[in-house]
Amino acid sequence: MAQAKQPQRKKIESTGQMMKIMSDYFYDLNEAAKSTDRKVAWCTSVGPAELLRAMGFAVHFPENHAAMLGATRMATELIPEANTIGYSPEICSYLTADIGAYLKGVSPLAKAYPGIEAPPRPDVLVYNTNQCRDVQDWFCWYAKELQVPCIGITSPKNFTDVSDILIDDVTRQIEALIPTLEEISGEKLDMQRLRDTVALSRECTDLWRQVLETAASKPAPLTFFDGTIHMGPAVVLRGTRQAIDYYRQLLEELKQRTSDKVGAIDDEKYRIYWEGMPVWGRLRQHSELFSELDTSVVVSTYCSSWIFPDFAADQPIRSMAKAYLALFIVRSDSYKESYIKEMLEKFSVDGIIYHDARTCPCNSNSRYGMPQRLERETGIPSLVISGDLNDLRCVSDEQNRTNIEAFIEQLEESQC
Ligand code: SF4
Repeated sequence: MAQAKQPQRKKIESTGQMMKIMSDYFYDLNEAAKSTDRKVAWCTSVGPAELLRAMGFAVHFPENHAAMLGATRMATELIPEANTIGYSPEICSYLTADIGAYLKGVSPLAKAYPGIEAPPRPDVLVYNTNQCRDVQDWFCWYAKELQVPCIGITSPKNFTDVSDILIDDVTRQIEALIPTLEEISGEKLDMQRLRDTVALSRECTDLWRQVLETAASKPAPLTFFDGTIHMGPAVVLRGTRQAIDYYRQLLEELKQRTSDKVGAIDDEKYRIYWEGMPVWGRLRQHSELFSELDTSVVVSTYCSSWIFPDFAADQPIRSMAKAYLALFIVRSDSYKESYIKEMLEKFSVDGIIYHDARTCPCNSNSRYGMPQRLERETGIPSLVISGDLNDLRCVSDEQNRTNIEAFIEQLEESQC
């Protein structure tokens, strides 16, 4: 068994630049909400952000705010606030933490960014149910509370192939959003501006993919835990030049690490695929635990979910529809399993850890036999840990530590 040692994950120098562009983004949102000329849209993480940006909206992503509530460990105390108005503790803890924060009048933004008190007040809420129904419920609650329109896309789900029929459906739904958005923004959609925005999103996503793929090298120059932090611009700034410039810088740093054979952790011996959501309030602990065990978490479904190879500037709306449908979470188990198998090989993975997140069944893929099927087909062992993305009452730290240590020990024995 690996001996406990001082955990280290090497600092990424570009982090300072990332924090700056994230800060600029939040201050700009705050200004937009105060201005009479600019409109604010709230958008789900894989909603039609390209359309909103091209129409001049400042775009806020409540899931990003909810993840901040998790990472700052504010979420667990706020979730009961939403429970008292009828939202079960069993449903999405992003939703319950975010609504709880609104009811309580608190936000991690206030601490991180002096002068900002809360997320920007929206002029419109725009969802896509490609990931789950919770986002629609979440946005509809705010629509009633704040008396603003809520519109969206009701996505097909659980399919293997992204067929033309499905793309036609979502394309029509995106097109149907345009008149309402034009009325709210007071501007006609400029198709050239949309093409430019989709082109920027595509460039951003290509760079993000290259960033993540540097972890295919041995040792991996970044881990899943770095990825969860550095994905910020890919989530909230896709369709902008700032995100592209940032990922160019980050990619250069990681390529340098790769050519210098510098790993994100010292002494990488084992390589793990992380399936499911991060435990936001335990990122540091989990990162340190894996470092102690000479283990790099080199690839994850979660960070890879912001890779959209289907964006195409010559067919902006149709390619947006295709990209939003091609998302991992929307697909059948059969697609998911072949995707994971490809990643296991590409990243030379030794074992898979499935995070079964109590309040996010859509992002928990261990419940219908997938670990057993994949293990049978690939011979790569897996472990399921129970927890949650935001609700730390569902997380047993001791049990997870014991199980992860035993799993890595099992990998060590199988390699002897
Ligand atoms: S996918 Fe999961 S975490 Fe994301 S909004 Fe839906 S239920 Fe919440």
